[in-house]
Amino acid sequence: MTAQSSVVSPGAQPDFAVLGGGLCGRLVAWRLAGAGHRVALYERGDAAGSSSAAWVAAAMLAPLAEAAVAEPLIVELGAASLEEWPRIIGALPEPVFFQRNGTLVVWHHGDRAEASLFERRVRANAPAELLAGGGLERVDGPALAAAEPALAGRFATGWLMPREGQLDNRQVLSALAAGLAERGVAAHWNTRVDETARPRARVTIDCRGLGAKPVLPTLRGIRGEVARVKAPGIGLTRPVRLLHPRYPIYLAPKENDLYVVGATEIEGEDMSPVSVRSALELLSAAFAVHPGFGEARILELNTQCRPTLPDHRPAITWDGAQTLTVNGLYRHGYMIAPEVSKAAADLADALLTGQLKDADGFGALRAASPWTTMLHCSAPQAV
Ligand SMILES: Cc1cc2nc3c(=O)[nH]c(=O)nc-3n(C[C@H](O)[C@H](O)[C@H](O)COP(=O)(O)OP(=O)(O)OC[C@H]3O[C@@H](n4cnc5c(N)ncnc54)[C@H](O)[C@@H]3O)c2cc1C
Repeated sequence: MTAQSSVVSPGAQPDFAVLGGGLCGRLVAWRLAGAGHRVALYERGDAAGSSSAAWVAAAMLAPLAEAAVAEPLIVELGAASLEEWPRIIGALPEPVFFQRNGTLVVWHHGDRAEASLFERRVRANAPAELLAGGGLERVDGPALAAAEPALAGRFATGWLMPREGQLDNRQVLSALAAGLAERGVAAHWNTRVDETARPRARVTIDCRGLGAKPVLPTLRGIRGEVARVKAPGIGLTRPVRLLHPRYPIYLAPKENDLYVVGATEIEGEDMSPVSVRSALELLSAAFAVHPGFGEARILELNTQCRPTLPDHRPAITWDGAQTLTVNGLYRHGYMIAPEVSKAAADLADALLTGQLKDADGFGALRAASPWTTMLHCSAPQAV
């Protein structure tokens, strides 16, 4: 698709209606508009994105660290997306904090069994090129202190993955909203779309995250709780993960001494406020990594649910007619969204142009995609 801008004229049927303007919907709409299409986007929440899972996420871009809990498809999507993020951010009209300064994994002596488990899983799930050339380095105390001076003397050993990244989630949501306006997308904020009243468009792309449950009955939410704290004077330079037998806790440093401390992983779609137990665990872990967090100020305690399919994989599903659903980004949305949104936009483009109109066409496009196993057809003649 070629890059040019377009404007949706009032009243005209757009080429594409994108339902849901969280992370995925914004990216898909922005890509399609950049290719010259007329795009309308419908989001039940505000332009800031505060109704989305994307709003509370830590936005770590850590395919190697995630290889400890994710299968190769996710790791490879993450590695490709990490290269793509700077191109996206460079084309947006607002600045976005983006960093590739790596991930540091540490553990307390009592949890050292977790460290070898972590290494075994990462080596099993990560492609060789991510591990090559110092992609996963075991660091002893002095090397750890040299890499992350704030933690000098605090941990005897760690794993450093120097090429991993992170970005500021709220800045990228804001910059994408500005990018949508710049590209002439008709963005309908504060507009819920349900199954009885779909907006008119030649092709519809459903990116409603958990809001797509009516059409994806196997979709479920996995609750995640995070704290946002302001901690001047600590100066961590990259996300630090603390291995833990129940769930790894991380501290992701953003600009201006802001840290996202997360995250619990609890089955269920409970969006109620953060529990006392979770707040204690998250904040105690931060304090255990560095006592300076004792004087941090708690800015927010937030809950959201990660949209998750039974196999924990993302899926782009064609209904055999004029609708795609893009969902199941689970805990990896930021890490994989550049590639997922690119694949979705390409498939949507093929639907619009008629290149995709039957099972044979779908089979050919699927075979040509680098992400074959992410593409599905739910029509009766499904491939
Ligand atoms: C605590 C936590 C921490 C995370 N940390 C990370 C991380 O470090 N790295 C990472 O890669 N990922 C992380 N994630 C995962 C990431 O946030 C999600 O995978 C991602 O946001 C999913 O994107 P999405 O667009 O599918 O869904 P969302 O971002 O949830 O967007 C869906 C949008 O659809 C809208 N919507 C829903 N229903 C309707 C309707 N009926 N009509 C109109 N609009 C509707 C919603 O308001 C929302 O804006 C984290 C998630 C959580 C909860």
